[in-house]
Amino acid sequence: MQQKEPKLCKKCKTNKPSIIIQKDPVCQECFIGYVEHMFKMSLRLKCNITQKNEKLLICFSGGQNSTALVKMTSDVVYSTCAHNKSKMFIQAHVLYINESFIMKEFIQEYQPQDYIPFLTNECKLPFQTIDIQSIYPDPYVLLQQLHNLSEFGSSREDFVRLIKLHIIYDYAIKNGFQNICFGQNGQRLAADLFSQLSKGRGLSLQSATKYNYSFVYPINQNKLQILHPLKDLLNKDILYYLRLKSNINFPNFILGQHLSHAVKNKPANGNIDHLLEQFIDKLQEGFPSTTFTVLSSADKITLKPLLQQNYCPLCLEIRDQVYNRLEVETLDNSNQQLINHLRNNTKYYNKICFTCNRMLQSARELEKFYNLQGFPPLIIQLADLIQ
Ligand SMILES: [Zn+2]
Repeated sequence: MQQKEPKLCKKCKTNKPSIIIQKDPVCQECFIGYVEHMFKMSLRLKCNITQKNEKLLICFSGGQNSTALVKMTSDVVYSTCAHNKSKMFIQAHVLYINESFIMKEFIQEYQPQDYIPFLTNECKLPFQTIDIQSIYPDPYVLLQQLHNLSEFGSSREDFVRLIKLHIIYDYAIKNGFQNICFGQNGQRLAADLFSQLSKGRGLSLQSATKYNYSFVYPINQNKLQILHPLKDLLNKDILYYLRLKSNINFPNFILGQHLSHAVKNKPANGNIDHLLEQFIDKLQEGFPSTTFTVLSSADKITLKPLLQQNYCPLCLEIRDQVYNRLEVETLDNSNQQLINHLRNNTKYYNKICFTCNRMLQSARELEKFYNLQGFPPLIIQLADLIQ
């Protein structure tokens, strides 16, 4: 009787396979080699990091993707990759924005995590921690703003994300970093793309999904480059990579899942980001080409050049005009009285973009938002500068 040959790793043909990459069963070692190789190639060829001693700012949030990003970067900097040990002469600096101040307010059982051992002992990369509330003259204004924003549709998460982006850009500019690396893998980028679309942020399609995207920071006209070097990887790749490579424990508390506490169990009203993330994850499970198809379609979209290119001081994206009646209706419930009131009585109403307006809709104390009352001086400076 013919004996069935044991299945072997498609790459090394010697070890037992344990994960599928691009339809091929491979072993643990070959998997790590593949991930490390993809990361290096992505940095070099897709993100254009080719100069010697180029400085990278690595944004770390404590989540799985950015943890993998920090770990891979450390291996590249110190040539500790398992396989291809060729060194890349880059300087990497980690920026961690500590959100404990908000977490403690919204999550009773919250326990802060200590990331210092991971960053210093495991990855040996220089890092800086910035408390999210530290850019506010009065930190309690931030909490007040979050309470004033609607619990529905991810407004609070979007607001926190904008504040974090301002901190990141400001830190990069002040410390001479042109390249800012974010950790989203391809599957996350695909979900982000859908949530940007559903929130009306169509103009940021480019920045949302490209390997690299550069823009001019309005305060000093310096160029900043946003990089997504993990775009070629999927959730399962990141999880398996971390299982093999890192000892870090992941927090049970993800900010976005708690800011809308009261509505998260009602699917119809739940958080947009998480609904779309679950949707993409389910699609990906059943149809493995989902992420690739979504991202490559997004790459083909080109934006029609706009006559005026004014920026919104909150999100720093291009501020577009409202084009159709449906947009107006989704925006303000057609409350022309309220619009007129805000237009006449607040300083910045006309400078805020469509999507940020949507984020602010049904917020309490709208005048305070549109007068940027109590906002970080950095954002007020931007708003005064922008036409
Ligand atoms: Zn905006």
